[in-house]
Amino acid sequence: MEPGGAAATPSRRLLRRLRDAMAGTGSAQSKLDAIVRMIAADMVAEVCSCYLMRPGEVLELFATEGLRPEAVHNTRLRVGEGLVGVVAATALPLSLADAQSHPDFAYRPETGEEIYHSLLGVPLLRGGHVVGVLVVQNRTQRHYSEDDAETLQTVAMIVAELAATSELIPPGALGEANWPMLRALRLEGVRLNGGLARGSAVLHEPRVVIKQIVAEDPAAELRRVRAAIAAMRQAIDEMLAADDVAGGGEHRDVLEAYRMFAADGGWTRRIVEAVQSGLTAEAAVQKVQDDNRARMAQATDPYLRDRLADLEDLGNRLQQHLAGRSLTAAGAELPDEFVLFAREMGPAELLDYDRKRLKGLVLEEGAPTSHVAIIARALDIPVVGRVGNALVKVEAGDTVIVDGDEAQIVLRPGEDLMQAVSARLEARAGERLRYAAVRELPAETRDGARVSLNINAGLLLDLPHLDETGADGIGLFRTELLFMLRERLPNVTQQVQTYRRVLEQAGSRPVTFRTLDIGGDKLLPYMTSAHDENPAMGWRAIRISLDRPALLRQQLRAMIQAASAQHLRIMFPMVADCAEFDQARAIFDLESARAANQGHEPPSRVEIGVMLEVPALFFELPQLLPKVDFVSVGTNDLVQFLYAADRNNPRLSDRYDSLSGPVLRLMRQLVAACDDHRVPLAICGEMAGEPLAALALIGIGLRSLSMSPAKVGPVKEMVRSVDLGSLAPLLADLDELPSRSLRGKLRDFARDHGVAA
Ligand code: PEP
Ligand code: MG
Repeated sequence: MEPGGAAATPSRRLLRRLRDAMAGTGSAQSKLDAIVRMIAADMVAEVCSCYLMRPGEVLELFATEGLRPEAVHNTRLRVGEGLVGVVAATALPLSLADAQSHPDFAYRPETGEEIYHSLLGVPLLRGGHVVGVLVVQNRTQRHYSEDDAETLQTVAMIVAELAATSELIPPGALGEANWPMLRALRLEGVRLNGGLARGSAVLHEPRVVIKQIVAEDPAAELRRVRAAIAAMRQAIDEMLAADDVAGGGEHRDVLEAYRMFAADGGWTRRIVEAVQSGLTAEAAVQKVQDDNRARMAQATDPYLRDRLADLEDLGNRLQQHLAGRSLTAAGAELPDEFVLFAREMGPAELLDYDRKRLKGLVLEEGAPTSHVAIIARALDIPVVGRVGNALVKVEAGDTVIVDGDEAQIVLRPGEDLMQAVSARLEARAGERLRYAAVRELPAETRDGARVSLNINAGLLLDLPHLDETGADGIGLFRTELLFMLRERLPNVTQQVQTYRRVLEQAGSRPVTFRTLDIGGDKLLPYMTSAHDENPAMGWRAIRISLDRPALLRQQLRAMIQAASAQHLRIMFPMVADCAEFDQARAIFDLESARAANQGHEPPSRVEIGVMLEVPALFFELPQLLPKVDFVSVGTNDLVQFLYAADRNNPRLSDRYDSLSGPVLRLMRQLVAACDDHRVPLAICGEMAGEPLAALALIGIGLRSLSMSPAKVGPVKEMVRSVDLGSLAPLLADLDELPSRSLRGKLRDFARDHGVAA
């Protein structure tokens, strides 16, 4: 039977009557009583009962037509118990002609229900959570039709709305916090950026608040929903046709899936049918989304879950088309401290938000190398990615804790947790004040050794950190980030502009540009690359630059032009032997000569250095050092190659320590070799930013460290509190030290000597 046909008319009439009942005066309980009466009459059922979820996953009978009135607020079933409990547990409709022979039938004598044989139950859903169950029963062994089930599901939306927005469940007495949708929830994900934050949840694409559930003019609603579906299909086609799909944060395969679903009769037909049954277009989309979410909660197959998540997204898009505008939260009024939730987003979209208020980011997708993660790192906000179903589980306005360090979020945390988090945030704020107090003071040890502290950067967004931290300069500027965020390869002119702005903003502080370190997992959207079995050891960095020299030439050309009459420092990443450095240097010389020929004013001073990241290069030092102006050790890569331990594998992250005999011995020999050749040596891997490791490094003679901006304060505090003379005996004979880790001894030293590490 067509729901839009004559058979659906009673349901439309019912919807109108329910709408009037909802809009009328009277208590929520009296409205609910009236509603169950109307449903029973309209569906020709002797019984209609409404059960709502109470604390401890208990379903309580809140209203009934047909069962004994004294059972109201007395009859209770646990989720999973009885047929009502089964509907709640599965979040799916249940239709039985002979309910009492069902194995889950639970007899409750106070209800007097033994005389009713058939049962149709549907879940009451809000935000994808079951908040109750609506049931009709008949004396006869009635076979409820699909239309009956559809009607009851539609009506259930109205009842769920009443239950959620009215005072039916007084917050204090009935434990609002125990409604499933309101309970504290810890969700795990992947750490995309560390740190801790709390704030109110803001959905990047807010859900549409449905103002009207029942249509005034069903024919007009049908026209609206059809037009919106057509507009959405066209928009998806256009996005797919655009050639910069990948750069916009939209992934082609996701869009392809959207196109498939949008064209698929099943999904759109269900929406159209819901409109035909008397709902407004928005309520119809919501109803289909509610069904989907319930199915998603059940789905164990990851593929199916992903597809259902696509449908969720598609439903949101359709709501946007119905509203006639793009509904991102960026333009809206936002809380003072908020945590943004999105399935995935593009870097530019993140920057649309007020940075002062944005405290954290939660993504359902997201990879450590995703562009939005790169931007979030520059903004220094914690990001947890791959939080499955985050958007289904969060409600806008929920209090959220984002713990990037532990790769988890907590929705609606309890008092205890909030207090603990507040204490941690206050402690951090206190630390920041301490670091701000030493900002203008030199990074000098108590016995007078001056250490140069620099920041690692990669975006123009990072440059304000120079002033904020009081750093001496930029020890590592990762140029590939600028390339990764663009939709097309930047030409020389564009690159000149960017490098010039970096140099301008850095002023007199030196900037060390690193040439492109792409390949492996740092891919450029506009460059095809071969799949590498082992990306960290694959075709990356200087290897690509030397095999495809045009890119390197353009980059060096842009740097030379940008640094006219200024100090230019450049280093090459992942150099494995002297010959590679020679080749790269030759390309630089070529570009220098070309710039001079073309009349560009040359840089006032040029220093060309090398990154020591590949262990083999260490054994080339006698040949290499006479040729380079400086060496910078990328300990992230160097240590991973020394220990043959993937730096991104969490199972290995605690297995080997960079504060070990082998690493420190290598460093000491490096210091000695560089001293012999009077070649400045720096460290720019994460190790430099860890106060205890930095203590060891300055103890063995390093005087230049580059780190993420947030680490400058802690490292400076450590430097200013240490007396290298007293540290010397501990590091005098590295051969005598434990091979595995020096961490414990250094910690003891720091404690005994009042060193802030
Ligand atoms: C390193 O390897 O230590 C380094 C600084 O480079 P990246 O982290 O960009 O590979
Ligand atoms: Mg590296």
